[in-house]
Amino acid sequence: MILDGKVLSDKLYKELNVSKRSKLIILTVGEDPASKVYVKNKIKACEKVGIQHEHITLDDMTEYEFATYVTDLIESNVKSVFNFGIILQLPAPEKYVKVFNMVVPPSYDVDGFGYWNRLKLYLEEETPSHYPATPRGILTLLDNYEIPIIGKHVVIIGRSEIVGKPLAKMMMNRNATVTVCHSKTENLEKITKTADILVVAIGKPKFINSSHIKDGVTIIDVGINRTESGLCGDVDFDDIKDKCYAITPVPGGVGPMTVYSLIENVVIQ
Ligand code: NDP
Repeated sequence: MILDGKVLSDKLYKELNVSKRSKLIILTVGEDPASKVYVKNKIKACEKVGIQHEHITLDDMTEYEFATYVTDLIESNVKSVFNFGIILQLPAPEKYVKVFNMVVPPSYDVDGFGYWNRLKLYLEEETPSHYPATPRGILTLLDNYEIPIIGKHVVIIGRSEIVGKPLAKMMMNRNATVTVCHSKTENLEKITKTADILVVAIGKPKFINSSHIKDGVTIIDVGINRTESGLCGDVDFDDIKDKCYAITPVPGGVGPMTVYSLIENVVIQ
């Protein structure tokens, strides 16, 4: 079964109740070509559901200037719109990322990467104002395709702050048994073969193949790799597709679900 994030997100956009005025601000630094594509997709999604958007390319600033800039920007927008979110498109220089994560209040941090939302995610007694878009999109995808999570062994390869780590916590919250692997993991194949759901987020083209999995596993391929022969995931789709129960394609799987989840975070506050 193909877990089609494009078809599902298109359906979910139509069901989204945009009852209040909403706005997304996207900040970018520099000219990263992949970022340009991501920003374009986010703006397209805003237009699809009819929410305002503003894309601001930042000039070089000191950390203090950036903190003041973001704070003023939030203040002026909060006065003029009801639902409002702001993101800093990654990759961005570390100094901007740190300041951004510190100064944006959790309710406007619609990427869910800010320190408050991250802290809230890992504290049992708290709930984040917004969950990170990619893990949230993955859960929405699994739920809509009725793939059970409770009690299942979910193996996540990759422990980044934006995908692997938050997804592990969100999967634990859903009563999955979770194993997180990374570049220092020994006997990776032995672990991946025990997965009921295998999530791969490492940024290595076609790294996972049929020798890594057992029959009937569900595979979520988060990777987006630009190769000479075009876009591909971290999973060798053609090699693995007949051995698994369900799989996300690249493109058209997790990517559209990530953008949808971001828009959901802006609209539903
Ligand atoms: P990072 O580069 O931040 O993290 C990569 C992770 O993969 C690290 O934890 C690293 O381990 C691990 N890793 C690297 N090589 C191996 C290996 N050989 N075996 C096991 N683990 C390994 O990546 P991101 O999480 O930001 O992104 C991962 C991929 O997902 C990228 O291709 C990115 O473009 C894509 N992506 C796609 C999104 C979407 O919407 N579809 C959203 C976000 C990202 P260690 O910690 O030890 O270094």
